[in-house]
Amino acid sequence: MTIFRIFCKQVASLSFIRDIRFECQNCGACCRQSNLVVTVTGKDILRIATALGLDASETLHALDFYLIENEHSLPEGMRDIPPIMTEKGLAYVAIRKLEDGSCIFLEDNKCIIYPVRPAVCRTFPFTFKMKDNGLRWGISAISHICPGLGKGDYVDKKFLLELGRGTINELSYYAEFVERWNTTIDSPTVEKYLQTLLDSIKQ
Ligand code: SF4
Repeated sequence: MTIFRIFCKQVASLSFIRDIRFECQNCGACCRQSNLVVTVTGKDILRIATALGLDASETLHALDFYLIENEHSLPEGMRDIPPIMTEKGLAYVAIRKLEDGSCIFLEDNKCIIYPVRPAVCRTFPFTFKMKDNGLRWGISAISHICPGLGKGDYVDKKFLLELGRGTINELSYYAEFVERWNTTIDSPTVEKYLQTLLDSIKQ
């Protein structure tokens, strides 16, 4: 069954900073936050479907569609992965959450798709943005959600920027797909979106 949800404002915020310590504590708090929406790119969806051997209809069961009621209420991070046109209006595509807010792929406090986890999870708690012709990075979560912030060594900015460049490239590719989808498709449905997406990336 396709699940459409109403988007609620996230507590995450984007704040650009220069130096910060971070060491993941493997607590799984980010995977259990009901107010952190794990939006996905096309390649995220394809990687997960391929790794788990899911067809389009099975993949659909791993996704939620967050309808946008008021675009002005969206936090920065959500604007970076564009929403798609569906049979119910514009919606963000995200990994499905259980009723308690935890990720559908969290089992025994472990991510069962860790090697192919979405870009948002790979880069958490950081986020990236092109600004003034340069790649900028910031924190996408406030520290009471992520106890890893402020712990361990200072983050390696070279590594972080490489991660950021890969993420931005992936987002650009997906944004082009979404632009085509949103402007050319007749009678959009989430089923059609998923099939078209998977077919187009495989080509
Ligand atoms: S909340 Fe932070 S410390 Fe905990 S698992 Fe997620 S990234 Fe690691």
